[in-house]
Amino acid sequence: MEVPFNDLSRQHENLIKEIFHEWSYSIANSDFILGDAVEKFEIDFAHQNEANFCLSCANGTDALYIAMKALGLKQGQEVLVPAVSWIATSETVTAAGGKVVFCDVDESTMTIDISDARLKISSDTVGIIPVHLYGNPADMISIKKIADENNLWIIEDCAQAHFAKIGKKFVGSFGDFATYSFYPGKNLGAMGDAGAITSSYSKLIKRARCFARHGGLKKHEHLVEGMNSRMDTLQAKVLNIKLRYIKEYTSRRRNIAQKYLDNIVNPNVILPKSLKNNKHVYHLFVIMVKEREKLIELFKQKDIGFNINYPKSLPFLEAYKYLKHDTDSFPIAARIQNEILSIPLFPEMREEELNYVIDVINQFSP
Ligand SMILES: *Cc1c(COP(=O)(O)O)cnc(C)c1O
Repeated sequence: MEVPFNDLSRQHENLIKEIFHEWSYSIANSDFILGDAVEKFEIDFAHQNEANFCLSCANGTDALYIAMKALGLKQGQEVLVPAVSWIATSETVTAAGGKVVFCDVDESTMTIDISDARLKISSDTVGIIPVHLYGNPADMISIKKIADENNLWIIEDCAQAHFAKIGKKFVGSFGDFATYSFYPGKNLGAMGDAGAITSSYSKLIKRARCFARHGGLKKHEHLVEGMNSRMDTLQAKVLNIKLRYIKEYTSRRRNIAQKYLDNIVNPNVILPKSLKNNKHVYHLFVIMVKEREKLIELFKQKDIGFNINYPKSLPFLEAYKYLKHDTDSFPIAARIQNEILSIPLFPEMREEELNYVIDVINQFSP
């Protein structure tokens, strides 16, 4: 048997007719930029997240950048970022004029380590960007506490965690802004790039919208210099259709994850953990294995797809050489980059595929 790491075509198979139908209207009416479908997406996405406001934009990276511009980040101000994430989380801090300050991650959740974050706060620190990595909520209760005590803004990077929950609240509702990516492989994925920002604060979302729309909210109004970051109408139409199924997709992901958690029994494999009360949405199912190369060899032999998210933690990337970080400064991030392995998990995964992956992992003895 061959088990793909992910297979989007299975999801799209059932939706393609409706998508083509919707797209044919856009093409017939030359309706490509903003308009009703984009507005509908903003309203529905905010509503489903129980957020007050949503601004759509071109991708999840822009979402982070726009949020920091709207918060007024200034040259030289410091922003706390977890050492394990996709580079978008940190590169946008620099792009927006700030200084990246990496914090190690918590060994069990792989999200930002609260005590390290506390130690890294200086008089120049203005904000913190917790990432709900792999779909696992960061400890927002503690983060909110240190943010309040130190007068920091919070941007929750929800690119991997659509509709994850902490207690009864969705992730994204704890900070000043939440940012989302709808890159095709994300839990809610477009057929190209797309992103969004949500917020509870009308003033903030207005500033973000203004910045993302060339510095104005009306035609020929340019109050400030901004940028152009819009969600395509065609992408909004895909997302409007998929939003109707996102609950189903999420519960499928969680059921598959539970089956892995219940049935993978191998002392050489560490399974992912989430905090009690938190609802992990398993964008990725990431196990830890000391003898990773050997398990990868076995996966290759047995035709099982896999990924490493990410092979190098952020402080150790070439791009951050200038910060002169060594592995001793981020012991957890340094260790897990050598042990993490993402195994197949997507809503359309078949029962026999799931059982096959479980069997192969249980057989593994390095
Ligand atoms: C995907 C991702 C982003 C960036 O989103 P794009 O839409 O690809 O620009 C940002 N942060 C995290 C954690 C991501 O996984």
